[in-house]
Amino acid sequence: MTTNRTPRIGVDLGGTKLEAVALDASGTLLWRERIATPKHSAEAIYDAIAALVLRGEGNVGAACSVGIGTPGSLSPKTGLLRGSNTVVLNGQPVKQAIEERLSREIRIANDANCFALSEAVDGAGKGAASVFGVIFGTGCGAGVVVNGRVIDGLHRIAGEFGHNPLPWPDDDELKDRGAHGCYCGKSGCIETWLSGTGIAKHFNANRTGEPLNPAQIVDLAASGDVLAEAYLTRVEDRIARALATVINLLDPEVIVLGGGVSNIGRLYTNVPPLLPNYVFSEFVETKIAKNVHGDSSGVRGAAWLWA
Ligand SMILES: [Zn+2]
Repeated sequence: MTTNRTPRIGVDLGGTKLEAVALDASGTLLWRERIATPKHSAEAIYDAIAALVLRGEGNVGAACSVGIGTPGSLSPKTGLLRGSNTVVLNGQPVKQAIEERLSREIRIANDANCFALSEAVDGAGKGAASVFGVIFGTGCGAGVVVNGRVIDGLHRIAGEFGHNPLPWPDDDELKDRGAHGCYCGKSGCIETWLSGTGIAKHFNANRTGEPLNPAQIVDLAASGDVLAEAYLTRVEDRIARALATVINLLDPEVIVLGGGVSNIGRLYTNVPPLLPNYVFSEFVETKIAKNVHGDSSGVRGAAWLWA
């Protein structure tokens, strides 16, 4: 039986690694293990996850609840996983297969939802009634947590604002969007502009020389490069526009940033003053915060699926 005192195991099912943690009821880390994700079959992945969980339970000396965070989501129609970058799992009964191996109910959620939950429970959004957690990483995923619970939505896509178009585009951005199609089939998605990949791509498209990543663009701007500085100023305005639509719709108390882009320190100074240009309110007090748990947020949030 799962009680509030039951230790919680969280598993982050990534394309290259499986990471698992066990947390006690206060969020203290009891155990952690990381292994490579088996590549060849879904069955091998289920077996690896089940073995990880059993090792975790052996380490903490107790039966644990199990939550799993993964890219994609379980289809509300079929229960099968879809949209994962671990493509052998797409269309597979992942939840059922792992439950059979572990002889218990488990919970599975999107990895960005797990990030948002982790930061809402004991991270940058701790104590806030509503938290929007957004990962600007390889892609742009996000999750919504209200009163400590993940909002899944009817189609289990709540928070997927990365596939809305960049709002309030100027003429240049409208012209550019056709050149930057999104894997989802649309063009001009927020993800294509503001994921770490998108930030680098737009910058490198307009210059010669070695392609730079976002951290290098920030360094270049800090060294006095006028073009890099102008570009980052535009990125900050794009982030303000994207987040303003979230505030107008959801009005969360805290927006927590994750992923590589969240390491750009100047965002936390430069983006908030831009929000009133776009938000439907004469003042804007939404806290824009950097994540507390870093790369561990996803796996911690998976554990908190049983909070
Ligand atoms: Zn898209």
